Amino acid sequence: MNAITAQVSSVSALPPADELDRALRDASPAEVIAAALKTVGRDKLALVSSFGTESAALLKVMAEVDPAIPVIFLDTGWLFEETLAYRDTLIAALGLEDVRSIKPAEETLSREDPDRELWFSDPDACCRIRKVEPLARALRPFSAWINGRKRFQGNARADIPVVEDDGARLKFNPFANVSREEIAAIFARAKLPRHPLVASGYLSVGCMPCTSRTTEDEDSRAGRWRGRAKTECGIHTMKIS
Ligand code: SF4
Repeated sequence: MNAITAQVSSVSALPPADELDRALRDASPAEVIAAALKTVGRDKLALVSSFGTESAALLKVMAEVDPAIPVIFLDTGWLFEETLAYRDTLIAALGLEDVRSIKPAEETLSREDPDRELWFSDPDACCRIRKVEPLARALRPFSAWINGRKRFQGNARADIPVVEDDGARLKFNPFANVSREEIAAIFARAKLPRHPLVASGYLSVGCMPCTSRTTEDEDSRAGRWRGRAKTECGIHTMKIS
Protein backbone atom coordinates (compact mmCIF):
# COMPACT_ATOMS: atom_id res chain seq x y z
CA MET A 1 0.00 0.00 0.00
CA ASN A 2 1.53 3.35 -0.99
CA ALA A 3 1.33 6.50 1.16
CA ILE A 4 -1.68 7.97 -0.69
CA THR A 5 -3.66 4.71 -0.53
CA ALA A 6 -2.86 4.40 3.16
CA GLN A 7 -4.09 7.94 3.83
CA VAL A 8 -7.33 7.45 1.87
CA SER A 9 -8.00 4.16 3.60
CA SER A 10 -7.41 5.66 7.06
CA VAL A 11 -9.71 8.62 6.29
CA SER A 12 -12.45 6.40 4.91
CA ALA A 13 -12.29 4.26 8.06
CA LEU A 14 -13.53 7.22 10.12
CA PRO A 15 -17.28 7.42 10.80
CA PRO A 16 -19.08 10.30 9.05
CA ALA A 17 -18.89 13.56 11.02
CA ASP A 18 -22.62 14.29 10.64
CA GLU A 19 -23.51 10.90 12.13
CA LEU A 20 -21.28 11.56 15.15
CA ASP A 21 -22.64 15.09 15.42
CA ARG A 22 -26.22 13.79 15.60
CA ALA A 23 -25.26 11.27 18.28
CA LEU A 24 -23.31 13.83 20.38
CA ARG A 25 -25.42 16.94 19.86
CA ASP A 26 -26.61 17.01 23.48
CA ALA A 27 -23.65 15.24 25.08
CA SER A 28 -21.58 16.81 27.85
CA PRO A 29 -18.03 18.00 27.02
CA ALA A 30 -16.57 14.97 28.85
CA GLU A 31 -18.82 12.63 26.85
CA VAL A 32 -17.71 14.28 23.59
CA ILE A 33 -14.03 13.87 24.47
CA ALA A 34 -14.60 10.25 25.55
CA ALA A 35 -16.40 9.58 22.25
CA ALA A 36 -13.51 11.13 20.30
CA LEU A 37 -11.08 8.84 22.16
CA LYS A 38 -13.22 5.81 21.48
CA THR A 39 -13.59 6.71 17.80
CA VAL A 40 -9.92 7.15 16.88
CA GLY A 41 -7.88 6.07 19.93
CA ARG A 42 -5.43 8.18 21.94
CA ASP A 43 -2.58 7.85 19.42
CA LYS A 44 -4.71 9.48 16.74
CA LEU A 45 -6.36 12.22 18.82
CA ALA A 46 -4.95 15.64 19.73
CA LEU A 47 -6.37 18.67 21.54
CA VAL A 48 -5.30 22.08 20.25
CA SER A 49 -5.07 24.77 22.93
CA SER A 50 -3.93 28.39 22.95
CA PHE A 51 -3.59 28.37 26.77
CA GLY A 52 -5.76 31.47 26.60
CA THR A 53 -8.20 32.93 29.10
CA GLU A 54 -10.77 30.10 28.95
CA SER A 55 -8.48 27.21 27.94
CA ALA A 56 -8.12 25.78 31.44
CA ALA A 57 -11.77 24.66 31.45
CA LEU A 58 -11.42 22.42 28.38
CA LEU A 59 -8.02 21.16 29.52
CA LYS A 60 -9.51 20.30 32.93
CA VAL A 61 -12.32 18.29 31.33
CA MET A 62 -9.82 16.56 29.05
CA ALA A 63 -7.51 15.73 31.96
CA GLU A 64 -10.42 14.11 33.79
CA VAL A 65 -11.08 11.90 30.76
CA ASP A 66 -7.40 11.20 29.93
CA PRO A 67 -4.48 13.51 30.83
CA ALA A 68 -2.24 11.77 28.28
CA ILE A 69 -4.15 12.99 25.21
CA PRO A 70 -1.56 15.00 23.22
CA VAL A 71 -2.07 18.78 23.51
CA ILE A 72 -0.76 20.95 20.67
CA PHE A 73 0.20 24.52 21.56
CA LEU A 74 1.18 26.92 18.77
CA ASP A 75 4.07 29.03 19.99
CA THR A 76 3.96 31.66 17.24
CA GLY A 77 6.98 33.66 18.41
CA TRP A 78 4.68 36.56 19.24
CA LEU A 79 3.07 35.27 22.44
CA PHE A 80 3.00 37.10 25.75
CA GLU A 81 5.47 35.80 28.34
CA GLU A 82 2.41 35.42 30.60
CA THR A 83 0.88 32.88 28.20
CA LEU A 84 4.05 30.78 28.18
CA ALA A 85 4.13 30.88 31.98
CA TYR A 86 0.41 29.98 32.12
CA ARG A 87 1.03 26.96 29.89
CA ASP A 88 3.56 25.69 32.42
CA THR A 89 1.24 26.46 35.35
CA LEU A 90 -1.60 24.45 33.79
CA ILE A 91 0.65 21.53 32.85
CA ALA A 92 1.58 21.23 36.52
CA ALA A 93 -1.88 21.98 37.97
CA LEU A 94 -3.78 19.59 35.70
CA GLY A 95 -1.14 16.90 35.29
CA LEU A 96 -1.09 17.21 31.50
CA GLU A 97 1.25 14.51 30.27
CA ASP A 98 1.90 15.34 26.63
CA VAL A 99 1.90 19.06 25.75
CA ARG A 100 3.72 19.75 22.49
CA SER A 101 4.82 23.36 21.84
CA ILE A 102 5.02 23.86 18.09
CA LYS A 103 6.99 26.69 16.48
CA PRO A 104 6.88 28.07 12.94
CA ALA A 105 9.60 26.88 10.55
CA GLU A 106 12.69 29.14 10.90
CA GLU A 107 13.33 28.95 7.18
CA THR A 108 9.80 30.21 6.39
CA LEU A 109 10.11 33.03 8.92
CA SER A 110 13.37 34.29 7.47
CA ARG A 111 12.04 34.08 3.95
CA GLU A 112 8.55 35.58 4.46
CA ASP A 113 8.85 37.70 7.62
CA PRO A 114 12.50 38.68 8.06
CA ASP A 115 11.61 42.03 9.71
CA ARG A 116 8.80 40.65 11.91
CA GLU A 117 6.32 43.16 10.50
CA LEU A 118 4.05 40.80 8.59
CA TRP A 119 1.47 40.99 11.42
CA PHE A 120 0.98 44.64 10.37
CA SER A 121 1.34 44.48 6.57
CA ASP A 122 -0.48 41.19 5.97
CA PRO A 123 -1.93 39.53 9.11
CA ASP A 124 -3.52 36.69 7.12
CA ALA A 125 -0.10 35.72 5.74
CA CYS A 126 1.40 36.09 9.23
CA CYS A 127 -1.24 33.74 10.70
CA ARG A 128 -0.66 31.32 7.83
CA ILE A 129 3.07 30.92 8.45
CA ARG A 130 2.91 31.15 12.26
CA LYS A 131 -0.29 29.20 12.95
CA VAL A 132 -1.99 27.44 10.03
CA GLU A 133 1.07 25.79 8.45
CA PRO A 134 2.66 24.71 11.77
CA LEU A 135 -0.68 23.27 12.90
CA ALA A 136 -1.06 21.35 9.63
CA ARG A 137 2.38 19.82 10.22
CA ALA A 138 1.64 19.04 13.87
CA LEU A 139 -1.70 17.38 13.05
CA ARG A 140 -0.28 15.09 10.38
CA PRO A 141 -0.08 12.01 12.66
CA PHE A 142 -3.64 12.47 13.94
CA SER A 143 -7.08 11.46 12.64
CA ALA A 144 -9.09 13.82 14.85
CA TRP A 145 -8.61 16.99 16.88
CA ILE A 146 -10.41 18.72 19.71
CA ASN A 147 -10.68 22.48 20.19
CA GLY A 148 -12.43 24.87 22.55
CA ARG A 149 -14.63 27.09 20.36
CA LYS A 150 -18.02 28.08 21.75
CA ARG A 151 -21.16 29.20 19.91
CA PHE A 152 -21.62 32.09 22.32
CA GLN A 153 -18.43 33.64 20.89
CA GLY A 154 -20.50 34.62 17.83
CA ASN A 155 -19.32 35.53 14.31
CA ALA A 156 -18.09 32.43 12.47
CA ARG A 157 -18.48 30.40 15.67
CA ALA A 158 -22.20 31.05 16.21
CA ASP A 159 -23.41 27.84 14.59
CA ILE A 160 -20.55 25.36 14.85
CA PRO A 161 -21.62 21.70 15.20
CA VAL A 162 -20.27 19.41 17.94
CA VAL A 163 -18.46 17.28 15.36
CA GLU A 164 -17.39 18.40 11.90
CA ASP A 165 -15.45 17.11 8.94
CA ASP A 166 -12.13 18.94 8.69
CA GLY A 167 -10.98 17.45 5.41
CA ALA A 168 -8.43 14.79 6.31
CA ARG A 169 -9.69 14.38 9.87
CA LEU A 170 -12.58 14.79 12.30
CA LYS A 171 -12.87 17.91 14.43
CA PHE A 172 -14.60 17.73 17.82
CA ASN A 173 -15.97 20.88 19.48
CA PRO A 174 -16.94 19.68 23.01
CA PHE A 175 -17.73 23.24 24.16
CA ALA A 176 -19.93 24.16 21.17
CA ASN A 177 -23.06 24.11 23.36
CA VAL A 178 -21.49 25.33 26.56
CA SER A 179 -22.44 28.72 28.03
CA ARG A 180 -20.19 31.36 29.53
CA GLU A 181 -21.71 30.55 32.94
CA GLU A 182 -20.89 26.85 32.63
CA ILE A 183 -17.26 27.68 31.87
CA ALA A 184 -17.16 29.95 34.91
CA ALA A 185 -18.61 27.08 36.96
CA ILE A 186 -15.84 24.71 35.80
CA PHE A 187 -13.23 27.32 36.82
CA ALA A 188 -14.88 27.78 40.23
CA ARG A 189 -15.48 24.10 40.95
CA ALA A 190 -11.90 23.10 40.12
CA LYS A 191 -10.36 26.34 41.47
CA LEU A 192 -8.52 26.69 38.16
CA PRO A 193 -5.78 29.31 37.96
CA ARG A 194 -6.60 32.31 35.76
CA HIS A 195 -4.50 33.52 32.83
CA PRO A 196 -2.34 36.27 34.39
CA LEU A 197 -3.53 38.88 31.87
CA VAL A 198 -7.23 38.58 32.80
CA ALA A 199 -6.59 40.78 35.82
CA SER A 200 -5.23 43.50 33.51
CA GLY A 201 -8.38 43.61 31.36
CA TYR A 202 -7.67 41.08 28.61
CA LEU A 203 -10.72 38.86 28.06
CA SER A 204 -9.17 37.01 25.12
CA VAL A 205 -5.44 36.61 24.60
CA GLY A 206 -3.60 35.77 21.39
CA CYS A 207 -0.38 37.18 19.91
CA MET A 208 0.98 40.40 21.43
CA PRO A 209 0.68 42.72 18.41
CA CYS A 210 -2.88 41.55 17.66
CA THR A 211 -4.37 41.57 21.17
CA SER A 212 -5.74 44.53 23.11
CA ARG A 213 -7.76 45.02 26.27
CA THR A 214 -11.57 45.01 26.11
CA THR A 215 -14.04 47.25 27.89
CA GLU A 216 -16.95 45.89 29.93
CA ASP A 217 -19.54 46.44 27.20
CA GLU A 218 -17.46 44.78 24.49
CA ASP A 219 -17.51 41.24 23.18
CA SER A 220 -14.78 39.09 24.71
CA ARG A 221 -12.96 38.74 21.37
CA ALA A 222 -13.27 42.43 20.44
CA GLY A 223 -9.64 42.99 21.44
CA ARG A 224 -8.34 40.57 18.82
CA TRP A 225 -7.13 42.21 15.57
CA ARG A 226 -8.80 45.42 16.71
CA GLY A 227 -9.59 47.82 13.88
CA ARG A 228 -9.39 45.14 11.22
CA ALA A 229 -12.08 43.02 9.55
CA LYS A 230 -10.20 39.89 10.65
CA THR A 231 -11.82 37.82 13.43
CA GLU A 232 -10.15 34.42 12.99
CA CYS A 233 -6.55 33.34 12.48
CA GLY A 234 -7.45 30.74 9.88
CA ILE A 235 -6.98 27.45 11.75
CA HIS A 236 -10.76 27.16 12.10
CA THR A 237 -11.85 28.72 8.82
CA MET A 238 -9.94 26.49 6.44
CA LYS A 239 -9.65 22.75 6.25
CA ILE A 240 -6.31 21.60 7.66
CA SER A 241 -4.96 19.08 5.14
S1 SF4 B 1 -2.28 36.74 15.52
FE1 SF4 B 1 -1.05 38.48 14.71
S2 SF4 B 1 1.09 38.08 15.28
FE2 SF4 B 1 -0.08 36.17 15.62
S3 SF4 B 1 0.23 34.99 13.80
FE3 SF4 B 1 -1.67 36.15 13.47
S4 SF4 B 1 -1.13 38.14 12.54
FE4 SF4 B 1 0.77 37.14 13.30
